[in-house]
Amino acid sequence: MAKSEDKFKKVLSHAKEYGYVFQSSEIYDGLGAVYDYGQNGAELKKNIKEYWWKAMVQMHENIVGIDTAIFMHPKVWKASGHVDAFNDPLIDNKDSNKRYRADVLIEDYAEKLNLKAQKEIKKAAKRFGDAFDQAEFEATNPRVLKYKQQQKEILERMGSSLEKEDLEDVKILIEELGIADPETGSKNWTNVKQFNLMFGTKLGASAESAMDLYLRPETAQGIFVNFLNVQKSGRMKIPFGIAQIGKAFRNEIVARQFIFRMREFEQMEMQYFVRPGDDMKYYEQWKESRMKWHLSLGLGQDNYRFHDHDKLAHYANAAADIEFNFPFGFKELEGIHSRTDFDLSQHEKFSGKKLQFFDPELNKNYIPYVIETSIGVDRMFLAVFSNSLIEEKLADGSERTVLKLPAVLAPYKAAILPLVKKDGLPEVARKIINDLKFDFNVTYDEKDAIGRRYRRQDANGTPFCITVDHDTLTDNMVTIRHRDTMEQKRVAIGELRNIIDSEVNVRNWLSKL
Ligand code: ATP
Repeated sequence: MAKSEDKFKKVLSHAKEYGYVFQSSEIYDGLGAVYDYGQNGAELKKNIKEYWWKAMVQMHENIVGIDTAIFMHPKVWKASGHVDAFNDPLIDNKDSNKRYRADVLIEDYAEKLNLKAQKEIKKAAKRFGDAFDQAEFEATNPRVLKYKQQQKEILERMGSSLEKEDLEDVKILIEELGIADPETGSKNWTNVKQFNLMFGTKLGASAESAMDLYLRPETAQGIFVNFLNVQKSGRMKIPFGIAQIGKAFRNEIVARQFIFRMREFEQMEMQYFVRPGDDMKYYEQWKESRMKWHLSLGLGQDNYRFHDHDKLAHYANAAADIEFNFPFGFKELEGIHSRTDFDLSQHEKFSGKKLQFFDPELNKNYIPYVIETSIGVDRMFLAVFSNSLIEEKLADGSERTVLKLPAVLAPYKAAILPLVKKDGLPEVARKIINDLKFDFNVTYDEKDAIGRRYRRQDANGTPFCITVDHDTLTDNMVTIRHRDTMEQKRVAIGELRNIIDSEVNVRNWLSKL
C-alpha cells in the first residue's frame, strides 16, 4: 500500500478511536459523505472556529460577524446563478459504474506531472548539493520544463472548455490523456454531463401551497442579502467586511475523501466590500493575510501553496486557492475570490431593491465590489488533524503515537493525573481541576499505570499532563509533562495556570500575524 494511503487510513481510524469523527448514523451503516463529530472533535472544531472568528472578526475594527438562516427565499439562488450554473461536470465509468468529477480526474493527472517535475528537482538537488541553484534548474532543465508546460496546457484547455461549456472536449481530453478509472483502470467512459449540486426541499404544510426551497450551498448569500441591514445598522464605511460561520449543503458527485468532501459541511466566510477599482489591491491583501493566518498555526510552510484558478466561477474576475498538503496530496483548503459587483447587482435586479453605498468622500452612490475569503471548517479540521498525527520513534527504541495539535486548538489543554487512586491524591487532583477549569478545558484520568495514561493523552493531543504524587501532599508541587518534548518538570501548583496559559493563549498565537 502506498505510504500516503497508509497514513490516510491511520487518520481515519485514529479520528474514530479517539472520539474525533464518526460516520453519521453508523449503526445503520452510515450515510454517504455525512459525518458526526465526537466529544474531542466537537472541541477541536469549536476551537478552529474561534481561532478564525477572533482573527477575522474581533481583531478587525471594520469587520463584523452575523449568523443567517440556512433557508433563504428561492429567488436568492436564481439571482446568485446557482440554479443555472452551480454544476459539476460528472463522468461515469461504464465498467465499474463508478462516478467521478471529470475536472478532478484531469486535475489529478496534471498534478502527477507536477510531482514528476518535483522529483527531478529533488534528484538534482541531491546530486549538486550546496551548489544547487533551484530557480536556475527549474528555468532551464528540459524535463522539468516539459512537465510544467504539459501541466499548464492541460489545465488551460480544461479551464477554457469548461468555461465554454464544451463538455465534449472535456471527454476528448480525458481520452487523449488516457486517464483511467483510478480504482479499476478501465477507460470505458460515458459522456460528460453537468450535475446541479443543490439539495431541494419544501417549505409549507400543504402540498398545494408548499414552496420549493434549497438548502444553502454556501453561506455567502446570507451576507449579500443583509449587506444594507448591516451597513446601515452598524454605520459601516467602505471598505468593511461581514463574516459568518455556518452550515452549507452540496450534493457532491464524488464523496470518498472523509471530511474533505462532505454533503453537509461548515464554512467560514468573509465578504469584504470595497470601492470599485480597489478590488485587486484588496484581493492581494487578503491572499497574503489569509496565508499568514494559516502559517501562524505552525503546520509547516511547505504544506501550503497558492493555486490560481484556471476556470473562473461565473461571479469572479480573479480567484486563488490556498492548497494544503493533505494525506492524499495538495488540495484546496480555502478560496479567495474577487467576486466583482456580481452578487449585489444580481440581488438588486431580482429584488428590485437598491443595494448601494453612498461614499461621502466620492460624493456618489455605487454597488461595492467584493473580495471573499472562504474556508471549510471540516477541511481545516482535516488539515490540522492529519498533519498533527505522528508516529514517533523514541530514543529507547519504543514508539509512540502523538497528536501534535497546535496547543491553542487542542480539545483538552491539560490532563490531571493522580499517581495512584488512593492516599488523598485524587482529591488534590480534583482541587487542581476545580481551579483550572475556569480558564482551560481540562480532564481527569486515574485509570492504568502513569506511562499508559501519558500515551493516551499524547494520542489525544493534550499538550500537558500534570501528575499529583505523594510528595505533592507536603510540598504542593506537581510534575508537569510536555506532550511534544516529553520533558518533565517539578513546579508549584500555583504556577500551573501561567505555564499552561503561555502555550495555549490565543494572544501568543495570533500575535504572529
Ligand atoms: P472543490 O473544488 O474542492 O469542490 P469549491 O471550489 O467548490 O471546492 P468553494 O465553493 O470555493 O469550494 O467553497 C469554499 C470552501 O468551502 C472550500 O475551500 C472548502 O474548504 C469548503 N468546501 C467546499 N465544498 C466542500 C465540501 N463538499 N465538503 C467540505 N468542505 C467543502
